[in-house]
Amino acid sequence: MANITAEILSLDQIRELAITVLTAAGMDANGGSLIANIVTQSERDGLRSHGLRMLPFYVQSFQSGYANPVARPLIERIAPGVLRGDGDNGYYQIAAALAQDDLAGIAQENGIAAFTCANCHHLAALRFDTESFAEAGLIALMMVNSLSMVVPQGGVRPVFGTNPMSFACPRKGMAPVVWDQASSMMALMDIKLAAAEGRDLPRAAGLDSTGQPSTDPKAILETCSLLPFGEHKGAAIAFLVEVLGAALAGGALSVDNADRDAHGALNIKGGSTLIVIDPARFGNASFDDYLTRICAEIEGNGDARVPGDGRLKHRAAADSDGVAVSAELISQLRNIH
Ligand code: NDP
Repeated sequence: MANITAEILSLDQIRELAITVLTAAGMDANGGSLIANIVTQSERDGLRSHGLRMLPFYVQSFQSGYANPVARPLIERIAPGVLRGDGDNGYYQIAAALAQDDLAGIAQENGIAAFTCANCHHLAALRFDTESFAEAGLIALMMVNSLSMVVPQGGVRPVFGTNPMSFACPRKGMAPVVWDQASSMMALMDIKLAAAEGRDLPRAAGLDSTGQPSTDPKAILETCSLLPFGEHKGAAIAFLVEVLGAALAGGALSVDNADRDAHGALNIKGGSTLIVIDPARFGNASFDDYLTRICAEIEGNGDARVPGDGRLKHRAAADSDGVAVSAELISQLRNIH
């Protein structure tokens, strides 16, 4: 955070600030607590783009009438291995918390289970949707589609959202392996953060007004045209997320932005699918050993690290030392009523 005045906040202070803002915006104790936890955990993981900085977007979604701050989601078991959620126009995490225990139980019974959710919003990092399943010995794979900004390889207009996914699996004797990533070269919020801080991007993540790949976050935000990661391969993953997110769940397609635009909100009301697998039901008694071996081959291999393990270092430091938060952002949040 070069040249930006910062205050050190403890994780408790961050959570308290988030609860205050979300409560003032009309969230009830359950929803406010779930979202405040995610905001706090994002700051703890070093995910500044999805931490306190995201709160004004939650507030805007409630104040514009786009999202429901007191959602009462409905969850139905519509097939032996399928839970279907209607988020009551609230945030995904509120529906997911209701489905969590049943989903894990069905996966343990059948080997595999899925939870789809529509009529809901998702602004957060996806790692928090999968990690708790891996802590309980299960594998989890989550996909959600988001507003269209990603141009398919060779195309001239955005079709896909930044369409993120997360994967989590248990790892014997250690924190689970958990990673989450956008299908775009960079997440929209990281591009916004770089623009706000006056930094160029580390790599070309979108197109400028002449259609050329650019590292200038402001030029990319003007065209709203992001590049997929890995050229056509990232675009194919974005396609997969669009199908498993929007189509399977019945959420808004990433290109269907009219409702979002009318409310001036950040994200669409897309759809999500969370697949949970119980490895103990798949007949390989050595699953844990395979994981240990795969990770061992990565660790100590030059500069490589197991995907997502960066969060563990951030967590340890944040727990003991707190987190540096921009003083300007703190002041903005304290002024939200
Ligand atoms: P990054 O490219 O920053 O990171 C992707 C993943 O790779 C992370 O799990 C990260 O964890 C890991 N990673 C990063 N560098 C390395 C490395 N050198 N070796 C091994 N692993 C590495 O993520 P994105 O920019 O794609 O996305 C940022 C966030 O935005 C994500 O949390 C995502 O869920 C969220 N998002 C949410 C959306 C929504 O609609 N709700 C839309 C799009 C994105 P770590 O660094 O901790 O190891």
